[in-house]
Amino acid sequence: MARETVPERRARGLQIFERLDEAMPEAKIELDYQTPLQLVTAVILSAQCTDKRVNMVTPALFRRYPDARSLAEADTPELEKMIHSCGFFRAKAKALKGMARALAEQHGGQVPTARSELAALPGVGPKTAGVVTVHLGGEPAFPVDTHVKRLARRLGFTRHEEPSRVEEDLQALLPEELWAKGHQLLIWHGRRTCFARSPACERCVVRELCPRIGVAKAKATVVKGARPPRRAAVVPPRPRRGALRRARPSGR
Ligand code: SF4
Repeated sequence: MARETVPERRARGLQIFERLDEAMPEAKIELDYQTPLQLVTAVILSAQCTDKRVNMVTPALFRRYPDARSLAEADTPELEKMIHSCGFFRAKAKALKGMARALAEQHGGQVPTARSELAALPGVGPKTAGVVTVHLGGEPAFPVDTHVKRLARRLGFTRHEEPSRVEEDLQALLPEELWAKGHQLLIWHGRRTCFARSPACERCVVRELCPRIGVAKAKATVVKGARPPRRAAVVPPRPRRGALRRARPSGR
């Protein structure tokens, strides 16, 4: 792709997000939660784990520890056993208890919505803080997880690797009111089409707009013997052009 100007990149970015929104209007966070504490808990558990697995674990967990105090005082071996299937169970149990203790002692048991306050909680990194603040209606953010970073690079929206730099580039690309939805759309597209090792470019709704940076390298890795990724069974329909909805991500 010829070098594009910033306005050209913004126009291309908006077109891409419009198409993704048309193809996946239902895109929303796939973790189940009812309260802010449940959201933080689920996001912490989702590190290196599928949302589906987390959703299998959290109903019993939320019943057993309904508030910050009870989670802070949880018996560690019991908590570790409950979250064992999410992986990294010792580190996650420690993170959950530390986070809950800080909420109980410093925030009256309530989850703050400011990203800086969230990021200051034990066990809550910048990405988790960004996801939580976006879904609690706190400050605008474009949280960068592994899918968002991969797609931002393939689509030519950033050259950076560091999540904070990638987020800056994405924030410069789209108007603020689209950051939260844009974050969700990139995650959904990454999970359903733009797979890490073998993206399904042949059925991608933004293929004419994508420079596919680094994709040949990713596919070569598969050819050399890496296990092929699982693919979604449903091929998304070709989108109609239309305005990107100004939807906030769903909170439940
Ligand atoms: S064209 Fe390929 S690399 Fe680009 S967004 Fe689509 S699936 Fe990903």
